[in-house]
Amino acid sequence: MSEPILPRIRPEIAALPPYRQGRQAGADAFKLSSNENPFDPLPQVAEALARTTPVNRYPDATAGALRARIAERYGVETDAVHVASGSVAILYQLVQAAASAGDEVVYAWRSFEAYPGLPLVAGATGVPVPLLPDARHDLDAMAAAITDRTRVVIVCTPNNPTGPIVTGAEFAAFLEKVPADVLVLLDEAYAEFVTADGAVDGIAERIFEAHPNVVVLRTFSKAFGLAGLRVGYAIGHPRVLDAARTTAIPLSVTSAAEVAAIASLDAEAELRERVAVVVERRTALRDGLRAQSWDVPDAQGNFIWLPTGAGTMDAAAAFDAAGVIVRPFDGDGIRISVGEEESIARVLDVAASLR
Ligand SMILES: *Cc1c(COP(=O)(O)O)cnc(C)c1O
Repeated sequence: MSEPILPRIRPEIAALPPYRQGRQAGADAFKLSSNENPFDPLPQVAEALARTTPVNRYPDATAGALRARIAERYGVETDAVHVASGSVAILYQLVQAAASAGDEVVYAWRSFEAYPGLPLVAGATGVPVPLLPDARHDLDAMAAAITDRTRVVIVCTPNNPTGPIVTGAEFAAFLEKVPADVLVLLDEAYAEFVTADGAVDGIAERIFEAHPNVVVLRTFSKAFGLAGLRVGYAIGHPRVLDAARTTAIPLSVTSAAEVAAIASLDAEAELRERVAVVVERRTALRDGLRAQSWDVPDAQGNFIWLPTGAGTMDAAAAFDAAGVIVRPFDGDGIRISVGEEESIARVLDVAASLR
């Protein structure tokens, strides 16, 4: 049989592999490949979900109740809050709104795997800027990479997958060099896990008020444990967020996501206790690995970075064989999420066997 004729796809899209998720863990394996929260939902979140709107009805297109709750939490206007099905969706919405053919999107590399796809889907050009040797953003080089064609700059803090933060002072100095008409996305997906002194906090510092070109992105997927429901938010200038509301796929925040996110904000104190537990485990993991003489960068998210270099795929296979699913980046390193208590010793055992 001859091959069917398929519709024409943009060559830059057809050239890419479709998204493939890390393998699901077997029953006795630890899935430490996606920076998920290891805890079950709080009972009050599960109850809120059970009471959610009937599924035959569309959700509220504006996610008004959740936006109002987030606005109250942070003391901003409801219009300064935008909600979407994960903060990855907001990255797509804003890059799509700001950049197209001929435009450039600057981001650090290595950083979040989703970033290279953002300019590509918009028809724009990605400009990756290498991290510093200590795995931090090279903000001077990123500022220097901005041209007349730059429409968006993405700063990820703490940086996924390497772990270090950007400080408030560094970010302020960086903004002085960024033209006011270039959109800056401050991706703070792991903000709740940060314990380092001086870390930038785009919301607490109200950076978007002095700099309306800055939008802060947060998510309920990581610290709040709602990854499976898909809900994230942005705080920024209402007119900048209007652009995201325009490019958003309508009605993609479900009622279930909205009620679970509200219940999670109502239970924030309890969820913060769980975050503190994850931070303790992170410290144990980092210290244990450093004691084995691994050069682990500062870890400020719910994950650590193991610089395995050329041995990355072999190291990942060793973790896999021991029932630990990790996220390898070929030739570079391995990201290991901080998960269940019992996973820590197992990770340390495998890491020791690789020395
Ligand atoms: C996980 C993550 C996000 C958000 O994920 P969503 O589940 O789409 O909210 C955004 N940025 C970074 C760097 C992440 O690691």
